[in-house]
Amino acid sequence: MVTSTPELALRARWVLPVASPPIANGLVVVRGSKIVSVGVHAGEPARDLGDVAILPGLVNAHTHLEFSGLAAPLGTPGMSLPAWIRHTVSARRATDATEHDAAVAQGLRESLAAGTTTVGEIATRDWRAMEPQAARLTPDVRMFFELIAPVVARVPAALAAAEQFARDTRSPNILPGLSPHAPYTVHPQLLSGLVELAGRFQIPLAMHLAESPEELELLRSGGGPFAELLRDFGAWDANPTARYPQVLDYLRQLAGAPRSLVIHGNYLDDQDVEFLSAHVATMTVVYCPRTHHFFRHPRYPLARLLKAGVALALGTDSRASNPDLSLFDELRFVAAEHPDVDPATLLRLATLGGAQALGLSDRVGTLEPGKRANFAVVQLVEQLADPHDAILASTARVRQVWIGGELAHSD
Ligand SMILES: [Zn+2]
Repeated sequence: MVTSTPELALRARWVLPVASPPIANGLVVVRGSKIVSVGVHAGEPARDLGDVAILPGLVNAHTHLEFSGLAAPLGTPGMSLPAWIRHTVSARRATDATEHDAAVAQGLRESLAAGTTTVGEIATRDWRAMEPQAARLTPDVRMFFELIAPVVARVPAALAAAEQFARDTRSPNILPGLSPHAPYTVHPQLLSGLVELAGRFQIPLAMHLAESPEELELLRSGGGPFAELLRDFGAWDANPTARYPQVLDYLRQLAGAPRSLVIHGNYLDDQDVEFLSAHVATMTVVYCPRTHHFFRHPRYPLARLLKAGVALALGTDSRASNPDLSLFDELRFVAAEHPDVDPATLLRLATLGGAQALGLSDRVGTLEPGKRANFAVVQLVEQLADPHDAILASTARVRQVWIGGELAHSD
């Protein structure tokens, strides 16, 4: 006798598949962990979720969950990145492994409750051992293991650690990636080695790039606050070959990986944008709106990047530079800051854009048959003509979160 898994049918005032226009009076049918169909509710038996929108679980393309226990960002708004990094190093040194793991678990719970079902995480400590308790009904994670080697002597050990991580990490819920941290902490030999590993293991790379004026100053002149910072940490390599002269050199290296994420990109110039728009199939820029605002950088060139066709995703970055881990709050912030960008585009960045960035768009990021049944169910209070406006209204709240066809969070 053949038994089939029962279907679950969910009816909502709106369904926003992202891959196609919003559906009023929508129906999503799930079997097991996958979506079977998405369409209009025509009266068939269904669980009616009421005045809500069902949308793909959000994809937070960039965070550092180790800082999720912080009640407020470190430092002060508008401070320089090198000065802020001194705070993060102190915070990390004051944290033991138990506190670290508790913060990560707290960050996963907070992300889930905020409607995020997939996370691009930068891990400085390998927290895969947490998986037994983290595996069921927590966000899927693309875990980018962070590598740092500002001086050439540290490159071999960093590459060995990266290779071991890439080889060992194989699980349904935590997928591997590697993160060459940033131009000021990554020797070009480390970067080229990581690009090679990314190709060999077919995994993505994530690198903080074009983030601050001090980074550009270091590349241009070989000096400035980042040189001072590295000297203070005994990690300064004065040799000009210890870094490339411009952001574009790093982009060219990253383009050699099967997939790469350019984290921040606050200071991309015209040639960088042109390069990125010619590499949309494999390179994504991750805009972290409220973190960008925390550092008081000049206005983010969002409309310009979109117009150039650059692939974009959104991230919260961590609670060390952001008050919380809600990607909905990022969307609301961006909608207010960039009224020239339409809300449907913003939702796409927070779902499909992130899924593509993390190399997971074959399984998440839209509501389509065959994809994982990961949903954010948003209660709509204001009845606005465009459901995108309704979910971005300040009164909208995440009522349920589903992962793999199971209710993972309920408000
Ligand atoms: Zn970051």
